[in-house]
Amino acid sequence: MKKNTSQPVAKPNVKKNDQVFVLTGRSRGARGRVLRVLADQGKAVVERVNMVKRHTRPNPNKGIQGGILEREAPIALANLMVVCPECGKPSRLGRKRLEGGGGQRVCKACNASFS
Ligand SMILES: [Zn+2]
Repeated sequence: MKKNTSQPVAKPNVKKNDQVFVLTGRSRGARGRVLRVLADQGKAVVERVNMVKRHTRPNPNKGIQGGILEREAPIALANLMVVCPECGKPSRLGRKRLEGGGGQRVCKACNASFS
């Protein structure tokens, strides 16, 4: 399969430690905290969302116990919505440029801006 590398990757609106709302998939309707954003894959790992069971072999050298572990699997950013810290609603976000560089995200529901 040919990999399409020419497609620009949009900068994700989701950031680490955001509260997000899951729109689709097995964990639909759940809310959780973002643990990790995998920007290059367009995915994020969300606490207690999209749990999968991993059957792991014990590896004493690495201190791995083995057995069935539950882990969060990455979920596509497109299936997530950031929960606004001001109004507490899953909202669409805009972006606002700040003077002196950087930007802030703006909640389109209540117009609150946050970093
Ligand atoms: Zn809001």
